[in-house]
Amino acid sequence: APNDAGAAAVAAAENVADRIEAEREHLTDLDSAIGDADHGGNMARGWQAAAEAVAGLDNPTVEAVVKTAGKTLLSEVGGASGPLYGGSLVFASAELSDGLTAESAVAFAETYLEKVQDRGDAKVGDKTMVDALVPAVHTFKKSVETDDLPPVDALAKAVAAAENGVAFTVPIRAAKGRASYLGWRSVGHQDPGATSTLYIIEELLATAADH
Ligand code: ADP
Ligand code: MG
Ligand code: MG
Repeated sequence: APNDAGAAAVAAAENVADRIEAEREHLTDLDSAIGDADHGGNMARGWQAAAEAVAGLDNPTVEAVVKTAGKTLLSEVGGASGPLYGGSLVFASAELSDGLTAESAVAFAETYLEKVQDRGDAKVGDKTMVDALVPAVHTFKKSVETDDLPPVDALAKAVAAAENGVAFTVPIRAAKGRASYLGWRSVGHQDPGATSTLYIIEELLATAADH
C-alpha cells in the first residue's frame, strides 16, 4: 500500500536527519581539509528541515515525501551540495509516482544519479559524491535485475559499494567543486559529499530493514 511506503519514507528522512546531525562535526572536519568547512552544517540544517517538512505531510505517498525533502534541501542548502542533492531528489521523485517497488527504486536511483551528473558534470574519479553514487547505483541495479536479490539485500550490496567508493576518494585528486582549487593538495583527504552520500544510503538500508 502506498501509505506504508510513504510512512517508511518519512521514517527514512528522520533517520537521515539524525545520522547527519550525529556526523555533523565529522563532515565539517572533512570539508575543512579540502573545502570551506560548511558541509556538516549545510547537510544538518537541510535534513533537519526536510525531516520536519515531510513529518507535516498528511498521509503522504513516497513520491510526495521524496519531492518535499528535495524541495526543502533546495531552499535550505546553498553551495554545491544543495542543488545536487535537492534538485536531483525532486527530479527523480517522479519515478516513484506509482509507488515503491524494486523496479521503481532502481529507476529512482538511476534517474537521481543521472541528474547529479547532468548538473554537476562530475564523473567517477573527480573526487565527489559521484564516486560513492555510481558504484552504489550500479550495484543496486545489478543486484535487483541480474542477481534477483530482495531489495533490502540489494541495498546492503549498494552500501558496501558506496563504502569502497568513499575510500577511493582519499588517494585521488579533486577535479570538481571547491576541493579542485587545491589541485594535488586534495590528495589524501576523503570527500565530504561522497561521505554524506554513504551515510544517506546506510540510513535507507537501516530504514528498509526495519519496515
Ligand atoms: P560547497 O563546496 O559549495 O561548500 P558543500 O560543502 O555542501 O558545498 O558540498 C561539497 C561536496 O559537494 C563535495 O564534497 C562534493 O562531493 C560535492 N560536489 C561539489 N561539486 C560537485 C560536482 N560538480 N558534482 C558532484 N558533486 C560535487
Ligand atoms: Mg563546503
Ligand atoms: Mg560552501
